[in-house]
Parts: sequence; structure tokens; C-alpha cells
Amino acid sequence: MTRSLTILGATGSIGRSTADVVLAHRDEFRIEAVVGGRDAPALAKMARELGANFAALADERGGEALREALAGTGIASGAGPSAVLDAAERDADIVLAAISGTAGLAPTHAALKAGRRIALANKESLVSAGAAFMADARQRGVEIMPVDSEHNALDHALAAGLGRDVEKAVITASGGPFRSWTREAIAAAGAKEASAHPVWSMGSKINIDSATLMNKGLELIEAHHLFDLPEERLDVLVHPEAIVHGLVQWSDGAVTAGLALPDMKVPIANALRNQGRLTMDLPRLDLAAIGRLSFERPDEERFPCLSLAKAALRAGGAMPTILNAANEIAVESYMAGHIRFYDISEIVERVCSMFSGRRISAPATVADALGMDQEARQVTRQLIPTYAEATRP
Ligand code: NAD
Ligand code: MG
Repeated sequence: MTRSLTILGATGSIGRSTADVVLAHRDEFRIEAVVGGRDAPALAKMARELGANFAALADERGGEALREALAGTGIASGAGPSAVLDAAERDADIVLAAISGTAGLAPTHAALKAGRRIALANKESLVSAGAAFMADARQRGVEIMPVDSEHNALDHALAAGLGRDVEKAVITASGGPFRSWTREAIAAAGAKEASAHPVWSMGSKINIDSATLMNKGLELIEAHHLFDLPEERLDVLVHPEAIVHGLVQWSDGAVTAGLALPDMKVPIANALRNQGRLTMDLPRLDLAAIGRLSFERPDEERFPCLSLAKAALRAGGAMPTILNAANEIAVESYMAGHIRFYDISEIVERVCSMFSGRRISAPATVADALGMDQEARQVTRQLIPTYAEATRP
């Protein structure tokens, strides 16, 4: 039986890999809708290639171009935030949520509220509004399948023990482009160097998050919500080969790990599985050829974003929402060349401490989270010029 799928963030890195998985299983999937941010020609191309029923572009100004590019295909289209929400709510068996950043929260939540099964790549949704998001999923009986490779690996590792008697869950980090750089060299690095990820090919925001290790911090918060584990039972291990993605340590000392070659098509296929797994014609993991796997502890001195995220998770309440918002603004400024690498962590730390006195409780609804997110963004934006000033020669 064919299943219908909507792809949010279809023109991005995860969107492209998802399209490849779907095209390899043409008779198993039907594409209901595709959603993109600003690039109308790319979205139209994707909609045609996948034979979607509907295409929605977030940027209103691209609506005309999208309509023209789809003329004669029978594919309906829309543009602007309401068209994106319409696409997310349309009748589909699965919604693959791969919009980048907090922009993904409202559409992903709309799909959840409509009762769609969610294949979740957009980790920022859970970081910003985890408790409210998971409560809504439970209330509606909606299943959330993690696409993030570490969480996907934990998902199958946990299945080995039926999820009981878990002592600790560990996610791995490749370490990013600066793993072996000195603090001084990292401090002077620009966005171009920070974007040169040694293992994964990804979107621009997650690339910078991987360089700061904020990505791993966001993933700890994501794991906390997905698997209901407290911060002290979650850990990060640096593993440059990116073969082992997640490990579960059981109460008797045994460990179950999830391994795969670093290709997002593997966790995407797993998140889209039905009764059994999809068959994927990808290179197989050859451990003898790889020979050696190495592991090290993360260095929170050189990568302070990781400890900031851990602190936010420990603090709880709205702190992860604030951390996530501040990080997004700081990363944007860094990519635009306005601030330096370590300004990102300094700014995030300052914004978190500005809010810490208020002891704000965790957003009870996704709307509350979005409100808190806006407030934290505003505060962060006001801080940026003082840092930008300092970078001027
Ligand atoms: P990307 O930048 O390559 O793609 C983002 C997609 O979202 C694009 O289609 C873009 O057009 C769309 N988009 C951006 N703003 C939008 C908006 N306001 N409304 C609607 N659509 C919008 O990013 P990516 O690397 O594919 O990552 C997507 C998500 O998946 C992120 O949350 C990221 O953390 C997560 N993720 C990515 C990877 C990876 O390997 N790339 C791995 C794990 C998790
Ligand atoms: Mg990941």
C-alpha cells in the first residue's frame, strides 16, 4: 500500500536526501506536499520531480514565480506562512519535518495537531518547545520518529531492551571542523572555515552549530524530550569517524550501539519505515576496511556552547527556549561576518544569564514558546552591535 508523505524543508539538505529515499521507493510513497523557504525554482523542480499535489513557499514574494514554474503540471501552489501551514496540515500519513531552525516549529506543530505522524529532523522544535510539543503528541497519540542520526540510532538501540533499565544514553559528535584546532586558531576562524564539515554535508545553520558543538547541546535537549531522560543520564562522546551514532548503556553494564555509515539517507529511511525496514541500495558498512574507530571526551573549554546547552537543560524552564533563540541570532550574525566565533557562545551565555533571574517556567504551549523565543531574539539582537563594533579593525 502506498503511503502519503509531506516534506517540510524539501529544498534543503535533508529534503534532498528524503527525495532520494522516496525516488528509490517510487511505488511505496505518494507525495502530498512539499514546502520550501525562498527558492521558487528549486521548489517547483522538486514538486515536479516527486509529483507532489501541492507546493508551498514561505516567502510570499516568490508565489508568482512558483505558480508560473508549475503552470500546466496540475500541481497547486501557495505562498506565505498560511500556505506553509496548509501544506503541513494536508492529509498525509507522514510529515517529514526538515525546515531549518525555529521557523520549523509552527509548521511541524500544525502537522502534529492535525494528527500526522512526524519524522522529525527539525531539532529546534523540540529544543524550543519540547515539553508542550511532546505533551501535544502524547495527547493526540502522534508518533514522532527521530531523523537526527544520533536519536535514530538511540531509537533502535533502545528497542533492544524495550526501553527499560536504561542507565545512560550517549550520542556521538564528529567534533566538527575545529576538533583538533587550538583555541586561538578557532577564535580567528571565519564562517567559511566553520562550514567545512569533515564528515556531513548539511545546511548552513547546522554547519555552524556543528563547529561550535551547540548542535550536540541541542541534541542532548532533543534526546531529553524524545526519550524522557534527565541531563545526568545523557552524555556526549566525540567520535571523528561518525560510524557509531548513539549508545545505550543498560543497568547491567551492557551497551547497545547504533552504527551506520554517515549518510542521512539511512536514518531517513528508518524514520519512514512501515512494518519492516526499507531496502536501501547504499554502500555497506565495512568495519575491516575502516579498521579503527576512535573516541575522545568533548573539550568544553574550546567548545563552550556544549556546556551552555547542558546548563540550560539542567536549569529547565524556558532556558532551552532562550538558549535556542539567542544561538540562532548569534549564528546568523556570525555567518554574516558581523561577530567572531567565540562571540556566539559569549552572546548566548549573556542572554541566558539575563533571563536566569526570572525563573521562567517551561512554555506550557507552543504559542508560549514562540512568544518567549521572540522576546529572547529581541534581547539578543540588541546585544549584537556591541560585539560587531569590537570586530571592526
Ligand atoms: P537546509 O538549510 O539545507 O534546509 C532548510 C530547508 O528549510 C530548506 O528547504 C529551506 O528552504 C527551508 N526553510 C527555511 N526557512 C523556512 C521557512 N521560514 N519556512 C519554510 N521553509 C523554510 O537545512 P538542513 O541541513 O536540511 O537541516 C534541516 C533541519 O534538519 C535542521 O533543523 C537541522 O538541524 C536538522 N538536521 C539536519 C541534518 C543534516 O545532515 N543536514 C542532520 C540532522 C538534523
Ligand atoms: Mg545529529
